[in-house]
Order: sequence, then C-alpha cells, then structure tokens
Amino acid sequence: MTTIDTVPMWINGKKAAGSSSREGDIRNPATDAVIRKVTFGNSDDVDTAVAAAAAAFPAWRAVTPVRRARILGRFRALLQSKEISEELCHLISEEHGKTLDDAAGELQRGIEVVEFAEGAPHLLKGAHAEDVGRGVDSHSVLQPLGVCVGIGPFNFPAMVPMWMFPVAIACGNTFVAKPSEKVPSTIMRMAELFTEAGLPDGVFNVLNGDKEVVDALLAHPTVKAVSFVGSTPVAQHIYSTATKHGKRVQALGGAKNHAVILPDADIEFTANNLIGAGFGSAGQRCMAISVVVAVGNVGDAIVERVVEKAKKIKVGPSSSPDSEMGPLITAVQRDKVKGYIDSAVEEGASIALDGRSLVVDGCEDGYFVGPTVIDQVTPEMSVYRDEIFGPVLVVVRVDSLDEAIALTNRNLYGNGTVIFTKSGAASRKFQNEIEVGMVGINVPIPVPMAFFSFGGWKASLFGDLHMHGPEGFQFYTRTKAITTRWADDNVASKASLRMPTNN
Ligand code: NAD
Repeated sequence: MTTIDTVPMWINGKKAAGSSSREGDIRNPATDAVIRKVTFGNSDDVDTAVAAAAAAFPAWRAVTPVRRARILGRFRALLQSKEISEELCHLISEEHGKTLDDAAGELQRGIEVVEFAEGAPHLLKGAHAEDVGRGVDSHSVLQPLGVCVGIGPFNFPAMVPMWMFPVAIACGNTFVAKPSEKVPSTIMRMAELFTEAGLPDGVFNVLNGDKEVVDALLAHPTVKAVSFVGSTPVAQHIYSTATKHGKRVQALGGAKNHAVILPDADIEFTANNLIGAGFGSAGQRCMAISVVVAVGNVGDAIVERVVEKAKKIKVGPSSSPDSEMGPLITAVQRDKVKGYIDSAVEEGASIALDGRSLVVDGCEDGYFVGPTVIDQVTPEMSVYRDEIFGPVLVVVRVDSLDEAIALTNRNLYGNGTVIFTKSGAASRKFQNEIEVGMVGINVPIPVPMAFFSFGGWKASLFGDLHMHGPEGFQFYTRTKAITTRWADDNVASKASLRMPTNN
C-alpha cells in the first residue's frame, strides 16, 4: 500500500504540523486519485505564523535594501536551476493539471517578479526637493508596513503568489502566504528554497487551509496588509472584511475577457491566437479569452477557423508529453462547465464544437472537458454573463466597433481584453474608450511584464492598487515626508502662530 504524504505549513523557517486535525485531499485532476493530503490551519496556527512574522520584522526591515535584494537574487538562482525548476513545474502540473510547458511559462513569469523586486534599492528611493521654503528642504522615504498576507487561487500555483511575496519582502515586510488548498506544494517548496537562499526565519511563512484560516488572518490585529487573487465573490468578502479591520487591501477577482475581431483582422493569425488564449490551461486563466465579439461579417469565417483548429487540440494528462490541454481542477468544476454548455443549448445558442462527451483514454475518471465553441450567444445568456472558467469560447455577433466597445463596457468584469485589427485608428479608439484594466492590440493575453503592474477594473479588482510593478512597491510601503531646516538663522527665528507658507 502506498502511503500518502500530508503537506504541512511553513512557520519560522521550518515545517509545522499545525494544531488542527482538519485536512483536505489533493487530487490529480487527470485521474481523480488522491496524491497527498494538506493540513488545514486554524486560528491558533494563524497566531503562531503571524507572531513569527511580527518577531522577524524589526531585524528584516533593518537589513539594507541591497542586502535584501541579494537574498532575492540567490532565491532566483535556485528557482532557475534546471533541477529545481523541473521539480517545481512537476508539482504545478501534478496538482493543477496544466501541461509542463504551460507550468514552465507561469514559473518564468513568477521568476521575473523576483528579478524586478531585486531592483528594490532603486525602487525604494524617495524624492528630495531643495528649498521648499527659505533654508528648508523636504524628502520622502518609503518604509515597510510590517506583516503582510497573500491569499492565492488554484489556477497559478507559483506565479500569482509570486506577484506578491517577492515585492513585499524586498520592501522590508515579512509575509504570510496562504496558497490555494488545491495546489499548496509549490509554494511550500519555495519557502524551503528561500530559507536556503539566506532568508532569515520568520520573514516568509506559509499557512495552508481554507476559509477558517483566511478569516482569522483578515481579522488579526497584527496584519497590516492583505493581497488576494481569486473569484469575485471571495474578493468582495476579503475586501470588505479586511478593510473593516483597518487593513490595506488589494483583492483581484474574476474575469470575462472579450476579444473584439474587426472585419479587417487576419483570420489565420486571429484564430491561432484565440486557440491559445481560449483553451490554454483549459481556459482556467484569469486572462483567458472567453468571449469572441465578431464585428460585421467576420463571424462565420472566425468560427469556422477556430473550430477547425480547436478540434486538433490534444487533450490529455500533463504526464503525457503529447498533451496540449489538461483537465479542469475538480469534478465539481467539470460538471459546472458542462452544465453551462447545457444551458446554452436550452437558451437557444448554437454549439459549433461540443467538448462535453470527451473521454481521455486511460483517464476516464479525470476532469476533462474538450474545447467548446458556442455561437449565436446573446448578452442575456448565462454563458455570456457568468465566468465559466473552462475551455469554452462564446461568440457574440455585433454590427460595429462602437457596439463591441459598449458591450464590453457593460460587462460586470474588466480584467483583460484584446482587439484584432489592422487599423491603427480603430485600436486607438478601442484602447481609449474600453473600461478594462489590461488591453491587448493584436495581443490576446496582455499580461503585463513584472515592471508594469497587473490588475483589472470593475468587479475584477477591489482596492486601489494593482500588483507588482510600481504599484506593488506602492502597496507594500508607506511614505513618510520629512521637512528639514538647517540654516544659519535658525537661532534668530521668532515665534509665530501663522500657518507656515512661502509667502
Ligand atoms: P477562490 O476565490 O475559490 O479561492 C481563492 C482563495 O480564497 C483560496 O486560497 C481559497 O482557499 C480562499 N477562499 C475560498 N473561499 C473562501 C471564502 N469563502 N472565504 C475566505 N477564503 C476563501 O478562487 P479559485 O477557484 O481558487 O481561483 C479561480 C478564480 O480566481 C477565478 O475566478 C479567476 O478568474 C480568479 N483569478 C483572478 C486573477 C486576477 O488576476 N484577477 C488571477 C487568477 C485567478
């Protein structure tokens, strides 16, 4: 009989079993087999982890930014070594189900945030102004907040937590990560590697679990800031609860990303891009394209070409090198996605490609749904309104660019969008008028590089600041403005009750 390991937590530089008897199953989504268990923390574990992070804070904030950056550099070097990156990609694929190639892509995007955060000595420079008054200078400094928390979703086991903790730690904060209970092993391994890179104990901690541990973190008096990425209802809960407890919050939510196809778009180029953006990671990306807005007469040609290409996608387990698309994360999610396709049929849409009956040989119990294209969708249908989070592209047909922009802007979400066109004027109008946080012009997954900030608008973000990039540094620091007088006439100044001015 094979024994099943239990993923523990990481507190104060070592593994911690936690004090709760609750645990969850981690399943291989391609087979439904339980591959390991994970400890579910409780409020006592939250107290222990936050206390460790709080105790580590004074010494860590006193480490100079250059030295902090060097530790990040050593951490990055470990992540980039062939053996470790392969191990991490294997963990991502095994627990999430995405292909190894896709896992390598997300790991690389995470590593780029570490690389960006190594610029902390430059990015933490404040401003200085000489002579704000006669003999008076002002400067500002950016100081860390204290204990910061990051709560992640299942769909990017490495990249999304890495949007948060490298920047927070580079700024001099200490951190408690709570990865998704479905995919906890990658971040646990990263915690070990960070320690190996020289990070002092207590600076980076990992708590595992579900709502119980999250809610205890949101209310903990020592926690200063909460970063969250996940679904919109949970993002709203995180934002309202944590702000009520006086914390700084950035909570990124769900998405329904529209791709607007103008009649002048290159059909072959557009279809190839829609295949990657719609079906990569089985549609389980927050920047996945899920709505195709076909403008004018482009609909028939684009549907025909996308269906032709989607039929050829090799769906299978990440353990097979031939697989291009893996399963969904859970059986519940598989059934939910199939239910949405059923509802589209009932509501009168036309199924151009149906993935509901797909069975993968040798993985009959896996959570697979094949690529699906639903045509003649209207904005009232649930497949248009709701985030499906599966390999389903819905096609809405409109008459003009104005209509396409209005449709996109009426949508609840505003994470990402793209326009396919050869017209500079049309794309300029689109980027100016569209109410979405991340826009692609002939680029279907416009995920900003680490040195720009990542974040959506509307129901895709609760809070003010996006993640990583300059806004990440802003989120994880507070500014102090210092006004200084060193003038020869200091001694001669007289008492005055007037508000100081330059006049
Ligand atoms: P989720 O909201 O179910 O879970 C996210 C995290 O919240 C997990 O760590 C989970 O343990 C915790 N959680 C779940 N329910 C909770 C509750 N009631 N109270 C407190 N904590 C709770 O999301 P998911 O299914 O893991 O991830 C998929 C979702 O994330 C999709 O909606 C996707 O669009 C979104 N997402 C958004 C972005 C973005 O950048 N906007 C990026 C990735 C994923």
